[in-house]
Amino acid sequence: MFWADEIVENIIKSFPGKENFIIRDEKTPSGRVHIGSMRGVVVHGVIAQALNESGKNARFIYEFNDADPMDGLPVYLNKEKYIKYMGKPLKDVPSPHEELGGEQALNYAEYFANEFLDVIREIGFDPEIIYSSDLYQKGHYDKWIRKILDNKDAIRKIYQEVSGSEKPKDWYPLQVVCQNCGKVGTTKVTDWDGEKVKYRCVPDLVEWAEGCGHEGEVSPFGGRGKLPWKVEWPVKWSSMKVDIEGSGKDHCASGGSHDIGEEVCKKILDMPVPFNIPYEFFLFGGAKMSSSKGMGASVKEVSETIPPEILRFLMVRKKPNQPIEFNPEGPTIPNLFDHHDEAADYYFHRKGEFEDMERVFYFSQEEQYISRQKLLLE
Ligand SMILES: [Zn+2]
Repeated sequence: MFWADEIVENIIKSFPGKENFIIRDEKTPSGRVHIGSMRGVVVHGVIAQALNESGKNARFIYEFNDADPMDGLPVYLNKEKYIKYMGKPLKDVPSPHEELGGEQALNYAEYFANEFLDVIREIGFDPEIIYSSDLYQKGHYDKWIRKILDNKDAIRKIYQEVSGSEKPKDWYPLQVVCQNCGKVGTTKVTDWDGEKVKYRCVPDLVEWAEGCGHEGEVSPFGGRGKLPWKVEWPVKWSSMKVDIEGSGKDHCASGGSHDIGEEVCKKILDMPVPFNIPYEFFLFGGAKMSSSKGMGASVKEVSETIPPEILRFLMVRKKPNQPIEFNPEGPTIPNLFDHHDEAADYYFHRKGEFEDMERVFYFSQEEQYISRQKLLLE
């Protein structure tokens, strides 16, 4: 059975009588998006499509984590210009369109998100797009931020029990944007009185950014606070009522971020854990290939090498639990075209001989994607 049909069957069994589903995926646009991130889009997009075609109603939400701090400088950027933004939320870093070309964007996060989105749409997916900073600013997460701060000791215990990570007793699972320097990656919350948090912008909290030393007090609501990702993840599940969300193999390791998210979900947020679809790595060019050597591994570059239906086919033909290997300099590309032709032959001329292959071909055709009506999150 084609993998998405099998997963949809399991989903329907897991949620008896349920008609409407929220399926979600996300990406932090901290630079050019690696082709591997397209796998999540395809896994979720194809499942949403298969669910819709089975008569259910699935909304596919894709979130860009633009409230995350800039914590690395890609080699293709001007170091002099960008070094001072290290530690600031990605939405507060300027768009690099002047250096890199392409369309002007409001900020750094949006620039790279747009580059990725162009290809997502080119291969026929049309998820509802959300930016984290909008949700933080609108107060969408406020209720959950309060809950997380009120339960900081229980969360510290979850970290310790699940992953063995020891957080100090005075640890708070929140960072705030420094009112003096605008960085979020450098602040440490030291107190919470139910309305405001006290914080310090610590010069040497992280290696990649320098805090300014400012000490202050501020409300953590309305976009001033940012949850650490391992806590933010289950908060997103809960606040958006996510039913289905897969995640890469690295997050699903025992004691990893998915395990922490599950415990936070059950013990703090009192909600069921979304249906998980763990998926394997995307290996680009084998171990020897580096992005500085010849062809790059970004979504944009790969999409300029192969046509959209072949790129989509590359992702659709493998089950989520199988790794995908892609070597632009080896036999991968000619093999892909041959395999695509073969699948097309089964679909058009040899009906019933190899049903899985027919389904792979069908779900690789971007024009058959059922465009979903946009609905705004409340
Ligand atoms: Zn500061």
